[in-house]
Amino acid sequence: MTKKLNSKYIIIGAGLSGLTIAYYLLKNGESDFIILEGRDRVGGRINTKDGIDLGATWFQNHHSNLNELMDSLMLNKFEQYSKGQSVLVYNTMAPAHYFESHQISPSAYRIEGGSATLIEALTKNVKNKIKLNTTILELIDDSQTIYVKTNQGVFSAEKVVSTIPPKLSATLKFTPSLPENILHAMEQTHTWMSNAMKIGLVFKKPFWRNKELSGTVIGQVGPVIELYDHCSNDGRTYSLMGFINEGLRDVSPEQRKERILEYLEKYLGKEIRDYISYFEKDWSKDQFTSCENLKSVYMSPQYGNPLFDEYYFNGKLLFSGTETSPEYGGYLDGAVYSGINAAKELLNRD
Ligand SMILES: Cc1cc2nc3c(=O)[nH]c(=O)nc-3n(C[C@H](O)[C@H](O)[C@H](O)COP(=O)(O)OP(=O)(O)OC[C@H]3O[C@@H](n4cnc5c(N)ncnc54)[C@H](O)[C@@H]3O)c2cc1C
Repeated sequence: MTKKLNSKYIIIGAGLSGLTIAYYLLKNGESDFIILEGRDRVGGRINTKDGIDLGATWFQNHHSNLNELMDSLMLNKFEQYSKGQSVLVYNTMAPAHYFESHQISPSAYRIEGGSATLIEALTKNVKNKIKLNTTILELIDDSQTIYVKTNQGVFSAEKVVSTIPPKLSATLKFTPSLPENILHAMEQTHTWMSNAMKIGLVFKKPFWRNKELSGTVIGQVGPVIELYDHCSNDGRTYSLMGFINEGLRDVSPEQRKERILEYLEKYLGKEIRDYISYFEKDWSKDQFTSCENLKSVYMSPQYGNPLFDEYYFNGKLLFSGTETSPEYGGYLDGAVYSGINAAKELLNRD
């Protein structure tokens, strides 16, 4: 087999888990690795555009792995804005219920500068090791070497850690095949938030704050399921961000936007139409997060199957990523936890 590039380790995926592995390897003096990433950007399910987190946003104090990583990267957090009246919509035909959420809910935090700041900090010292637009197609176990077949050729290493979400990993070719039990576990592991649809609206002014509204709009019956204030902490950008109803997936983009605006106008006021920019992201349409055979999951699925902790390909292949984590699987914290563990495994094995 022709070798395109050799390194001791290959990390597959430049999402939070993959970049955490790289950060810890480097921190512990190991620099002999490369990172292969299918997308044309880093971050995976962390994706911030014009200050809008179209992927992950919030975390809490008990997410200790993430909090510690942020401290070590000297990143700051700030509390989600929730002052003023929030809106609860039970029935789109009946009047909305208004409530104060500020005092009752446990604090949710955001990363200063947006979630992508975490990715930028992790990427800082490993930029030259990341190969974008490199989609993994097959993993081949061959004696002392593991080969990674991609759309950009074949790469080889002593060990590979894959952070591809398990459900997508199940669509890869493994030669020889992996045991049936892990393939089954991969197929059964829902990719967290892979069915989510998010929107973001940027404004000149936070008009809702000026009306004593928090910007929070919650309800299962309308086009918008959850909406929150998403202004930056430094007062430079003013925006609203939230999740929309999956029923809007197959509606045309123009109709979708109009239904969202019409709905929000009712609860936040006509100023909603004065947005500077509008963003939307349907994660189910993103081939690096979602699969064709995706089904919506409304219950929190189980993560951290112990089968993901084992080595495969005679000790050369390891899995990581938030869905493999027994601690806060699905969340940012789970991605960090699994990344740290994978890095420790690599460092301790040699
Ligand atoms: C809309 C949304 C909202 C969310 N909100 C929150 C939140 O508020 N708080 C929270 O804690 N978590 C949230 N999450 C979850 C959080 O984003 C994830 O837990 C975390 O980012 C996962 O990181 P990861 O590295 O494990 O996986 P990923 O970010 O999915 O990284 C995997 C990487 O592998 C790459 N890849 C996939 N297939 C291939 C292939 N064949 N070849 C090469 N590369 C490939 C991908 O492009 C990606 O970069 C949210 C997620 C979404 C989508």
